Amino acid sequence: MASLMTELEQGRETGRKILPGPILLMGAPGSGKGTQAMELVKLWGIPQISTGDLLRANVAHGTELGKAAHGIMDRGNLVPDSIVNEMVAVRLQAPDTVKGYILDGFPRTLNQAGWLDGRVSGRPESLPVVAVSIHVDYNGLLRRITGRRNCPVCQTIYNIYSKPPKISGICDVEGAALIQRADDTEQVFTERMRAYIAQTEPVVDHYRGMGRFAEVDGDRPIDVVAAGIVAAVERLRSK
Ligand code: AMP
Repeated sequence: MASLMTELEQGRETGRKILPGPILLMGAPGSGKGTQAMELVKLWGIPQISTGDLLRANVAHGTELGKAAHGIMDRGNLVPDSIVNEMVAVRLQAPDTVKGYILDGFPRTLNQAGWLDGRVSGRPESLPVVAVSIHVDYNGLLRRITGRRNCPVCQTIYNIYSKPPKISGICDVEGAALIQRADDTEQVFTERMRAYIAQTEPVVDHYRGMGRFAEVDGDRPIDVVAAGIVAAVERLRSK
């Protein structure tokens, strides 16, 4: 464990030295993008922009956008590009994105990637986009998705198999009853994987072809995966 901590500390040390810029955190559903984004936010002090979270907030608040997206999300399909691109465009106008941002779950289609590339290249002050994908095998993903539970108050993510709360169904921090996302069932997972393979894997190929892509092994402890992402971003940024 000591050597793992050393690796993470080194990652944290070096991570402080680089200007992160726009970072795409990619990976299949359940690969740990949300968990890793939280680690990177702590390290770099730049915001996480999760299109899934933004959409779920719209659904919870009953906005027009949320009403349009709700059924699509529950079936595990992708929300239309026009809706998602517009939502990201608005979020990227906030001043906290100046030093960089971590896009979690976006872009998921080639159209979204083209839109983002155009937006970033239209801003000469911005570093180019770099993409890091977290790889976990199919059975691992299934277990993570069907076991995932969230705290509705502090958003802490648990897993009934690998990271259970001390008291079953209750958040250790807030004492709130944990919830399961409506799309975290095996049936919806299958559909989300289909969408990922058909529509998001071409996005991986797109950034790989540009030399702006790296993959890390997501089947390791959270701190080790985080250190791997930091090292990958540094490599891509120093090219
Ligand atoms: P996530 O939390 O990233 O797994 O996203 C949950 C759901 O939100 C997905 O299954 C999609 O229905 C929708 N969604 C999130 N991000 C996008 C995106 N970039 N494009 C289209 N749909 C999205």
